[in-house]
Amino acid sequence: MIKRVIAFSLLVMMITGGVACSQAKNTANKEEGSVGNIKLRMFGTAPGSEPMEERYYTSFALEYNGALYWFDAGEGCSHIAHTTGADLQTIQAIFISHSHFDHIAGLAGLYSTMAKLDSLHSGYQNKQVELYVPSNNIWPGVVMQIGQLSVYQNFKEHIIKDGVLYQNEDITVEALHNNHLGTPKDGVYQSFSFKIRLSGINIVYSGDIGSVDDLAPIMDDCDVLLIETGHQEAAVHLNGLEKMEFTPKTVMFLHHSRNMMRNGDSMLDKQRKTYPGTLIFLNDGDIYSLPDIQKVN
Ligand SMILES: [Zn+2]
Ligand SMILES: [Zn+2]
Repeated sequence: MIKRVIAFSLLVMMITGGVACSQAKNTANKEEGSVGNIKLRMFGTAPGSEPMEERYYTSFALEYNGALYWFDAGEGCSHIAHTTGADLQTIQAIFISHSHFDHIAGLAGLYSTMAKLDSLHSGYQNKQVELYVPSNNIWPGVVMQIGQLSVYQNFKEHIIKDGVLYQNEDITVEALHNNHLGTPKDGVYQSFSFKIRLSGINIVYSGDIGSVDDLAPIMDDCDVLLIETGHQEAAVHLNGLEKMEFTPKTVMFLHHSRNMMRNGDSMLDKQRKTYPGTLIFLNDGDIYSLPDIQKVN
C-alpha cells in the first residue's frame, strides 16, 4: 500500500492554524533536508533473552525532516524513545518485522504513550499512523490488551507482503520475506527484512533472519546494514557478506547475542582489521547521524 504525503494538506493545516510546532518545523527543514540529516535513534538492542540491565528489547527509529519511521517495538521502546528526546507525535509509520515478543511487546505501550502525549498536546488528534505487521493477529491482540482504542490516535493496519510497503517524498520502505521462522507450509511468510531508501541513503534492516543470505536480494547498493546477531555472530554475517561480495560502507549490529552483550564493542575488534567499512556496536539510547555516521549523544 503506497501512501503519499501531500504537501497541499500540510499547507492547508498551516493556513488554518491547526498545525503544531514540530509539523511547522517539518516544512522549515525541507530545503536543508535534501542530503542526509538523518538520525538513527536506538531504543532497544536486546534479543528475546531474559531481561538485561541497560538493554530494552529490539526497536529503533529513523528521524528525517521532522518525521519518525519506527522499526519493531520491543518492550520499553516508547519509554526510552520519549526520555531520549524522540518526538512520538511525529511517527508516520511503524514496521514490525515479525511477531516474536522481543519485537512487538512494546506496541501497546507505544500506542498508549502516543495517545497520552496527544491528550497533553494539541494538534495531533486524528493523525493517522500506518502500522505494517506480518500477521493480522497482532493488531487485534494489541487492541484487546489496551481494552479500547483511544480517540486520539488512529493506527491503520496493513499486512506486510514482499515489495514496496510505504512511500512518500522522503522515504521508500520495501519488505522482503526471510527464513527466520522457516519455510511456511502455506507459503505465507511471517518474518520480514526491510530496505529503506531515505534521502539518498539505502539502509537494510535485517529483522531476525535465518542467515545473512536471506538479505541478498536487497543488499545491492546498501550503504548501511543494521543486522541482528541474536542467532549468528557478527563474524558469520561478515563472512557471508564477503562471499556474496556485498560490503556496505557501514554495518551496525543490534539484537545482540549473549557474547556480544557480554563483551560489547571489543567483539568487533578482530573484524575491524579486515573489513573495508565501519563496524558499529549499538547500545540502547544511541543516536547516530547519517550518512556521516557520527554519534551525536
Ligand atoms: Zn528477535
Ligand atoms: Zn524472532
